[in-house]
This record gives sequence, structure tokens and C-alpha cells, in this order.
Amino acid sequence: MKTTKDIAALLDEPACEHNKKEKSGCAKPKPGSAAGGCAFDGAQIALLPIADVAHIVHGPIACAGSSWDNRGTRSSGPELYRIGMTTDLTEQDIVMGRAEKRLFHAIKQAVETYAPPAVFVYNTCVPALIGDDINAVCKSAQELWGVPVVPVDSAGFYGTKNLGNRIAGDAMVNHVVGTRDPDPLPSTAPKNIRVHDVNLVGEYNIAGEFWHVLPLLDELGLRVLCTLSGDARFREVQTMHKAEVNMMVCSKAMLNVARKLQQKYGTPWFEGSFYGITDTSLALRDFARVINDPDLIERTEALIAREEARIQEALEPWKQRLNGKRVLLFTGGVKSWSVISALQDLGMVVVATGTNKSTEEDKARIRELMGEDTLMINDGSPKELIRIVREYKADILIAGGRNMYTALKAKIPFLDINQEREFGYEGYQGMLELVRQLALTIESPVWESVRAPMPWRVAKPEANQLAKAAA
Ligand code: SF4
Repeated sequence: MKTTKDIAALLDEPACEHNKKEKSGCAKPKPGSAAGGCAFDGAQIALLPIADVAHIVHGPIACAGSSWDNRGTRSSGPELYRIGMTTDLTEQDIVMGRAEKRLFHAIKQAVETYAPPAVFVYNTCVPALIGDDINAVCKSAQELWGVPVVPVDSAGFYGTKNLGNRIAGDAMVNHVVGTRDPDPLPSTAPKNIRVHDVNLVGEYNIAGEFWHVLPLLDELGLRVLCTLSGDARFREVQTMHKAEVNMMVCSKAMLNVARKLQQKYGTPWFEGSFYGITDTSLALRDFARVINDPDLIERTEALIAREEARIQEALEPWKQRLNGKRVLLFTGGVKSWSVISALQDLGMVVVATGTNKSTEEDKARIRELMGEDTLMINDGSPKELIRIVREYKADILIAGGRNMYTALKAKIPFLDINQEREFGYEGYQGMLELVRQLALTIESPVWESVRAPMPWRVAKPEANQLAKAAA
């Protein structure tokens, strides 16, 4: 179990903007407000997309049930990550002191049934409280079966979901990264360009959106050693130390990984986003800039010019339909600014944006994009969101799935932008999908129907009016 000192060290993240404030670390949940996921939830969300690993949740079944597969991440191969595994602890296991034994058997069953390249064991509140030594169990299981068994000590009561992301990142840096070298380049690799190895940290391949970007990186000769963790494999995480540069895709989750890889292996990192044309081009330029290969810089500029011209032409008919439409954006973190730039690329007006999960740096970027007087919303209550939509005459609410019913009940067009979404919006191609979904949502004929007065409420003509009309 983690000590208070371990948790304080994780909360004190020098690369995080919040550290510069008076109170360092992630915000504590306030009584009465929904706290979001626990640390275990955050840890599992961060690592579950590693597709070929057996993910075992050590705890009562509800922990696994409430967090399993709640991010729509996609795999191009193995599907083992989608099998929910848990030790399913009961009161009897606790009273009889057999929780560790159950964990040992669960690892055995996972190894014998699925032969995974590794097993991840997530600690939850109950085994942490009764003092299970998951590190010792994982160590002896690893020795016995010869398969890496990685403890992720992420009891829910340690803190918030963000802390869980960091715990997960820490487990990867401490137990997995640096245990294998990357494969040699395949014989089919291009001979006329120099291939550079890179990592993406915090890229989750939601709805398969990273597959819009990967072909561009391939074309530039940027070999992605690992995306921590969308569509990743265990063997890829092992090689992360060999990258020339790391891109931090989401500003908060696993920031510690980028910083620690820089400290341990000297790998430089930058923060970026693949949402929107401007940011996608900027991210590609940043790779070339940090790697500092003149040939790569030249090829990157040529690729950006080609792709921007292609996508602008494809977007033109959609842009005309969306130009001037007003948006209320309520999302968090990196998306609070990266999506603004994507919407502005389309000629849309963002009337306000949510910032309750944004860092100070995110807020600075929002001001840069929308001006100093921009409306930033911290209160995401249904009442407040509906008030802002009405007051600022927004045509659409773009938010996470939990706001969907708020919008639909108030007859407001709604687009899901968070992890449960069904469509991928990354890269140039993702912009085309975003614009299509925005137009289809705003122009759907359903809004006219539901906003029309209900037929049984339309006043019936009086009998004398009918008689007059007949005469
Ligand atoms: S708070 Fe504890 S018991 Fe609840 S889901 Fe998280 S780990 Fe499980």
C-alpha cells in the first residue's frame, strides 16, 4: 500500500501548472459535488488500452464493473483487454484472510488460459485496507510463471482519477519501460529517409481516431514506438526509453511519464494535440523541430501544405453550412482549447468553454484563442449550461456523454466530444468527420419537430368561430 509520502510525491508534479499555485497537486473533490472517478478508475482507464495484457482488478466485483471498458478505445489486433478480470473478493475472503490467495489463483488462471505477454494487477480500496501485499504476490507469480506481473497500486481512496493516471504512468516507468530494445527496422522500411523513433503519451485511440494520424507519421518516417496507451502492446511499452522525442497528447494525464522519461533517459518532450487543422500541423512541425533533422523539416512542410490544401477543399461545402454557428463547449483539459481551435478553423463561434478540469496553461491558451474576456465556465450543472445556451444563443452544446440528457431534454442539439464518443476527430481526416457530425446534428429535422407546439396544446377554434367560417 502507498504511504502518505508516496501519494504526496505523486501529487507534487513539477511539470504540472497547478504546482505553481499556492496549493499544489490535484484539486480535492468538494463535498456535495460529484467527484468523478477514483484513483483506481484513473489508473485502469490509463492502462486498459494496452490490448494484449491481462488486466486483473483485485477487489470486490463492483470496482471492475464500474470502470471496465468505459473509454471507447480501439485495438487493431488483440482483444484481451476487453475481457474483464477480477478477483471478485467477498466478505468471506476478507474474514478468512484469503484475498492474496485469490489474487495468486487469478494470475494463474489468466496466464494459463490466455498466455498474455504480461499481467497487470490493480489494487483497490478493500485489499489496500486489509493490507494485502500485492507487490509480493506479483513478484512470486512472476517468478513462478515467467511472465511479467506488474502491480498497479491504485486504491480508490488514494485520490482522484488524475492521481490514478499518474500512478499508472509511474507503474509503467518503474516496472516496464526500459526492459526491452525496439525491433530493428523491417526490410520494407524506406531507404532514402532517416527513420526517427517517437512516443505518444496520453493518446488513447478513442473511436480509432489515432489511425487518422498514423499514416502521416509513417510517411514522414516517424516510427511510433509506443502510444501510451491507445492500441498499444506490452512489448511496445517496454521500448519507450529509446524514443528521440515524446509527445504529451493530453496535458494532465501521465504528465509524470514524459517528465520522468526525460530525467531518466534524456528524452525531450512537447505538448500538443491532433484536434483541428492548425494543431495537427503544429504537432507535426514540433516533431520535426525537436528532432532537428533538416530533411524531416522540409518533408514535414511539404506534407502539411499538401494535406491542408486537400482538407480545406473537402471542408469547403461543410464550412458554408456551419459558418457563424454558435457553440457552447463544455469539456475539460486539453480539449478545452484544442477543440476551440478546431471549431474556429470551421468559422464557428465558441460562445463559452468549460474549464473545470483545465490547467492554468490550458486557460492561458483559451484566452489566446478567444480573447481576454472570454467566458470560462466552472459550473457544469444542467441549469447553468441551459442558461448559457439560451443567453448566448448557442446552436449546439458540445460536451461529454453525461450532459447528453441535459441537452436533449432542453431540445438543444448535442455532440459528444468525450471518451464515450463513437467517432474519431483527430488529424486532418478527423476534421472532416467532426464537421460532418456537427452539420448533421445542427441540421437534424428532429429539432424543428420537437420544438413545435404539441398538437394537443394548440388552441382549438371556438364553436362560434367555426360557424362564422362556415357562413
Ligand atoms: S473508490 Fe475504491 S471501492 Fe470504489 S471503485 Fe474505486 S477502488 Fe473500488
